Amino acid sequence: MAKRAYNFNAGPAALPLEVLQKAQEQLVEYQGIGMSIMEISHRSSQYEQLNEETQSLMKELFGIPDGYKVLFLQGGGSTQFAMIPMNFLKAGKTAAYVHTGSWADKALKEAKLFGETAVVASSEADKFTKIPDLSGLQLGENTAYLHITSNETIEGSQYQQYPDTGSVPLIVDMSSDILSRPVDISKFAMIYAGAQKNLGPSGVTVVILREDMLEDLPKNIPTMLKYEIHAKNNSLYNTPPVYSVYMVNLVLKWIKENGGLEAMERRNREKADLIYQAIDGSGGFYSGVVDPAYRSIMNITFRMKDEELEKKFVKESEANGFVGLKGHRSVGGLRASTYNAVPYEACKALAEFMADFQKRNS
Ligand SMILES: *Cc1c(COP(=O)(O)O)cnc(C)c1O
Repeated sequence: MAKRAYNFNAGPAALPLEVLQKAQEQLVEYQGIGMSIMEISHRSSQYEQLNEETQSLMKELFGIPDGYKVLFLQGGGSTQFAMIPMNFLKAGKTAAYVHTGSWADKALKEAKLFGETAVVASSEADKFTKIPDLSGLQLGENTAYLHITSNETIEGSQYQQYPDTGSVPLIVDMSSDILSRPVDISKFAMIYAGAQKNLGPSGVTVVILREDMLEDLPKNIPTMLKYEIHAKNNSLYNTPPVYSVYMVNLVLKWIKENGGLEAMERRNREKADLIYQAIDGSGGFYSGVVDPAYRSIMNITFRMKDEELEKKFVKESEANGFVGLKGHRSVGGLRASTYNAVPYEACKALAEFMADFQKRNS
């Protein structure tokens, strides 16, 4: 049996061992067809069935009501940053954004290329250690949509509740916490996520879109960037990322076999608690970056008293089988990403390593 690292990578990130083993078993021959899934037409009945089944599993697990489409697109979360304003921001309207950190900022920057935008709430003054309170948010009639970032992967903050936007379409980037906990889908006009954090490998982006969003869209945008085209063609307008969709299919089955989203959330909270307790119980040796009320259960960010010690921590962690604990280069510090597929045992081992490192260095 292969020795698996304690993988805390932020993305691409850990995949469930059972999923990798299933993929290995089916790599050379998929369901008796004498080939791998990568070697057949995307118009074949086998792929069409995989495409349908993956959509159904997503609907079932996530509790997606009727009236939504599940699309499998390419170009990552980053292409959605541009597709959203291209499709939904008309002249004379304003796109509203909540600025919570690095990814929210990237989404906003793309929207500015296409039309009028407004930052309606921001935690920049708090150095992105919080999620702004959106309970009293007033959005003008002219608002095309409100865009939020469910989980800031780099800063380590996460929405604990989503805003109510009435008739204004709410669009959310869930790239780093999709399927980590149950969500009331009916609040959202659109949910999107690059797969490589919590859903599978890179290469596919899942878009969940309320069907009324497909009405009356601009015609003068490139075909591949039109939601309408992908919806009409059931994500088969052009060659889809077949293998990535296949892997997402296996991950969804794994989530189902492991108790669905309630069980994922319970496990994710237990895992994150182990590490937050190691931080909070360290008497200041480690300090959490984010205000405890907004801490992410997916990306745990923390610091130590100086960068030299942080460097030493990363180096020693690597020598002990831990991978991916260095914070994002733009913010420094340390980060443990504890997505669905990261085992409890890995988080327990990290908490123990942290206590041991503290003992040896204080
Ligand atoms: C990783 C990430 C993205 C970007 O995804 P790509 O697929 O690399 O374009 C966008 N938003 C969030 C919150 C992310 O974590």
